[in-house]
Amino acid sequence: MAKRKSMSSKMASRKKPAPKLDTSFCCPFCNHPDGVACTIDLKLYVASAVCYVCQEAYHTAAHHLTEPVDIYHDWIDACEKANEDVDDVDCYKRQRRVGSGDNDDYSHA
Ligand SMILES: [Zn+2]
Repeated sequence: MAKRKSMSSKMASRKKPAPKLDTSFCCPFCNHPDGVACTIDLKLYVASAVCYVCQEAYHTAAHHLTEPVDIYHDWIDACEKANEDVDDVDCYKRQRRVGSGDNDDYSHA
């Protein structure tokens, strides 16, 4: 019985694509896949991540070792921190509002 050439030899000969760093990511605001594009300006040492879908943007300091994924993770961290802060403020306001009673007279003053 003739041996059938396995598919794997064909697969092995396929050239691997050149390693390319990801510069586009899922947007933390609109969740659009690859909506965020990261750019690094090493002249100004500024890194930017901008979503072309919802126009949300994040800017941070960059250096020669900064990679797009670093900017993106910085942004995610910043978003999470911001969300925590917002939650805290909301809770605080809600508690205040409940205990403050009705002061409708202020609006007429
Ligand atoms: Zn977006």
